Amino acid sequence: MDQRQMFFTPQDVQAVIRQTRHNKEIPIYVITIIAGIVGVICLLSQFEAETSFLNDIKEIFDETNPSDSFGIAAILGILIFILGIIGGIGAFILFFISYLASLYGLYADQMSYSIRVSENNYPEIYAKVLEYSYLLGWRKPPEVYVQQMNGELNAFTCWVPGRVFIQLNAEMVDIAYLEHKDFDTLFFVMAHEFGHAYLHHVQIHYTIWNTFANFIPFIGSYFLLPLLSRSREYSADRVAQALTGGKNQIDCMMLLAAGRHAYKYTNVYDYMAWVDKRRYNIIERFARFIVNMFADHPIMPYRTSAILDPYRRSGKLL
Ligand SMILES: [Zn+2]
Repeated sequence: MDQRQMFFTPQDVQAVIRQTRHNKEIPIYVITIIAGIVGVICLLSQFEAETSFLNDIKEIFDETNPSDSFGIAAILGILIFILGIIGGIGAFILFFISYLASLYGLYADQMSYSIRVSENNYPEIYAKVLEYSYLLGWRKPPEVYVQQMNGELNAFTCWVPGRVFIQLNAEMVDIAYLEHKDFDTLFFVMAHEFGHAYLHHVQIHYTIWNTFANFIPFIGSYFLLPLLSRSREYSADRVAQALTGGKNQIDCMMLLAAGRHAYKYTNVYDYMAWVDKRRYNIIERFARFIVNMFADHPIMPYRTSAILDPYRRSGKLL
């Protein structure tokens, strides 16, 4: 049964979504914010090292003028402090500008190389954009673009001030218009991207902490951020389930694993039996654990397991 038949209004859909965010996402996000603050301190301490030449001058001055009756050492100290503050603020402003520039770079890429979904271009997709926006209570629908990516099956959501935009790789759109005429699987992919935007995964107040946490060597970039990313993927899948009623959710998982031609010929229960961890010895399981630990999306067996159980807020993170 189409699970969305149980929901009647956008409020109902949103109420369901509020209950299905992955139960570890917010705690991991809070840890990421703390890590981000530590990352900023790491960044500033690097800047302090950059300004150490002034400290060197002060030390030389202190040594050569032990009786500093004019208080020049104090003036130098204040100067160093003020320069440190100005430098720190300047570093932040530069950082924000470069961060925003990278986001506008992605938007410029859409303006330069993509086709915008509209009433006239891919109208079937556009109708879903309006439907999902209505269900999520958005007055302004996101801009959805199609861009060919040389065979890569993917989609992503991004944000610039005042706009959310989604790229559907043309290879993904092909499944709707070619061989399988499979709009529902494409809609699940798109609904997942709506989920990222609805849960604020792409807005700057969320992503900026990821960037700061990245300043912590190894732990930030190799462990914490992939962990947060995996929890967000589960949450976005739950939004997709609420928006689509779970229609073709398994086809979507099989598509990601088997590609846009063969995915229609897979049997998910056979797949799940083969990826069952009890089939593997402890070393093999550990090897797979490592693959998942460094991945920004949960490995397919974990993600498919979570999809098959739509009422849980969880999904295996490690
Ligand atoms: Zn995602």
